[in-house]
Amino acid sequence: MPRSSLALAACAAVLIGCGDGGGDATIDVVYDPCAVVVETRRSSDAQQIGVSEAVDLWNRVAGLRLTLSGAKDLPRLVLQFDDAASIFHGVYDDERGVIFINDDLDGDELVVTAAHELGHAFGLNHVATRARRSVMNPNNLTVSPTSDDVASLRALWGNCEAPERPPAEPSSGDAER
Ligand SMILES: [Zn+2]
Repeated sequence: MPRSSLALAACAAVLIGCGDGGGDATIDVVYDPCAVVVETRRSSDAQQIGVSEAVDLWNRVAGLRLTLSGAKDLPRLVLQFDDAASIFHGVYDDERGVIFINDDLDGDELVVTAAHELGHAFGLNHVATRARRSVMNPNNLTVSPTSDDVASLRALWGNCEAPERPPAEPSSGDAER
């Protein structure tokens, strides 16, 4: 089998995280971003800092409750660093519910990639770059979660009940009961 076929087969197996071919795949295993521990494996100190920045990013912009060392009874989302082929920055294996991040990444690229793969783990699909800027743009290395990304996440999970969250602004029209 030629090398390109092998790469395609690997992408088909994980359904998502294969760059622009991603499309609207169904994500098998998803995690509730209001109650999950992100457990980093096979990582250096710098990589752990990158992951914690990605976690902070989502928590700050979306009022999530991601932790790196939470209560034992919370579901654990494993984020593992791997010496990966250069075809991807990161991938979410949605059958096992595990995130893999390429060892070669560092700095902001690592933070954004971790935020992107976390998005997949929370059930977000790719957003075409031509549609809008999104942390879920395929092969994204620069765009942090946007307000539209937060809206997409809340459509799936609602708001986490964070006490420090400011009261929601009343929307015009029929939202009031
Ligand atoms: Zn992706």
